[in-house]
This record gives sequence, C-alpha cells and structure tokens, in this order.
Amino acid sequence: MLHCPYCHGYEVRDQQLGVLGGGPDAVRYAQIVRQWADDVVFFAPRGTLTERQRSELTARSVEIVEGIVTRVVVEDDRLSGIEVDHGRTVPRAALFVPPRFVPNNGLLAGLGCEIDEQGWAVTRPGGATTVPGVWVAGNVTDPRAQVITAAGQGSAAAIAINADLVDEDVRDAVAGRTVTSR
Ligand SMILES: Cc1cc2nc3c(=O)[nH]c(=O)nc-3n(C[C@H](O)[C@H](O)[C@H](O)COP(=O)(O)OP(=O)(O)OC[C@H]3O[C@@H](n4cnc5c(N)ncnc54)[C@H](O)[C@@H]3O)c2cc1C
Repeated sequence: MLHCPYCHGYEVRDQQLGVLGGGPDAVRYAQIVRQWADDVVFFAPRGTLTERQRSELTARSVEIVEGIVTRVVVEDDRLSGIEVDHGRTVPRAALFVPPRFVPNNGLLAGLGCEIDEQGWAVTRPGGATTVPGVWVAGNVTDPRAQVITAAGQGSAAAIAINADLVDEDVRDAVAGRTVTSR
C-alpha cells in the first residue's frame, strides 16, 4: 500500500499496480502511476467516473474495475490481490492510495497563528506566520513538500529569521539599548 508515485513509483515499476479511486484527484493520480507500469488497474466505486475520465484512462490502457474494494489479499507478508465486492480478486503487487493531507496545526493554532479555511497556517514568503517570531517550513505549511523542498524552505526561513534578528539589533543599537563594540 503506497501513498506517493514520486516517492515509491520506482520501487514497483513494471509490476501489476492498482490505484484506489473515489477521491477527487484519483484519476489524475492514476495517470501519474501509469508512468511506472503498463499494467495499471483503477478501482472505482460504481457511478463515480465521468465519460471523459473513463476515456482518458482507457486511452492510456488503464483497466477500470468498478465496485467497492472489500479487502486487500496478503500472502507471505506481501500484497497479492485486491478483492472487489466480496467476489472477484484482481492480482496486484501494489496498491496506490491517493492521500488526503491533514495539517498538523495544533501547535500553531495554539500560538495564535492565523489559519486558512483548509487548516494551513497563513505565511509570508520566507515562512513568517502572522505571529511575530513564529516561522514555519516544510509539511506543516506545505503538504506537497518533499525532503528537498522542505529543507529548502527551512533554509529560506533561517535566512529570514536571521535578517529579522539583525533588524532587531539595529533598532536596539539606534535606540541606545545595546552598546556595539568595535
Ligand atoms: C511514507 C512516506 C514516504 C516518503 N518518501 C519520500 C521520498 O522518497 N522522498 C522525499 O523527498 N520525500 C518523501 N516523503 C516526504 C517527506 O517525508 C517529507 O517531505 C519530509 O519529511 C518533510 O519534512 P518536515 O521537516 O517538513 O516534516 P517531518 O519530517 O514530518 O518533521 C516534523 C517533525 O516535527 C515533529 N513534531 C510535530 N509536532 C510537534 C510538536 N508539537 N512538538 C515537537 N515536535 C513536533 C514530528 O514528530 C516530526 O519529527 C515521504 C513521506 C512519507 C509519509
């Protein structure tokens, strides 16, 4: 059971892959999984596919199996198939499940940071939140951030934080609150 074709697609390339449909972006997600294998099955609850989605999947040889997935079949600690409607089992080596990202915003909300309608902290470029002195980077603010993106945001936030601290030093020096030695 895999959540991300970018993180895990290569590991299961050219195998029998499945994609669990039903979510809003599942068809597009299946088209991305299709880059990794010729044998991809899209499991869709009945009546959820539009004609356009159906033709797009079929055009790229993605098989559509309609019904409710009732079980994943595991043999020798490995996925071997997907059972549909307590009947047919479709042999599969891996099943991709499009995730729904949920912000882990308890700490930020508790600090008083403004949170948008989807639950993500509102930020300015560099990662500053609406609460002075609170900065964010990575998945807490951007669900699509991979390791390299999250690390980059961390670097950008560190530079912005340092600039903020220098600004404070300058304000304090001008106001005579600190003495700067040569
Ligand atoms: C199964 C899986 C596979 C993945 N594979 C890849 C891959 O192959 N390549 C890739 O680039 N990305 C991959 N990712 C995405 C990658 O994990 C993230 O992009 C990355 O971890 C984001 O880093 P982060 O620092 O923002 O968040 P995290 O790594 O999640 O770090 C946040 C940390 O904060 C801690 N924390 C949370 N709340 C609190 C609190 N209140 N107090 C103190 N600590 C707290 C958490 O415990 C955690 O340690 C994968 C993700 C998953 C789930």
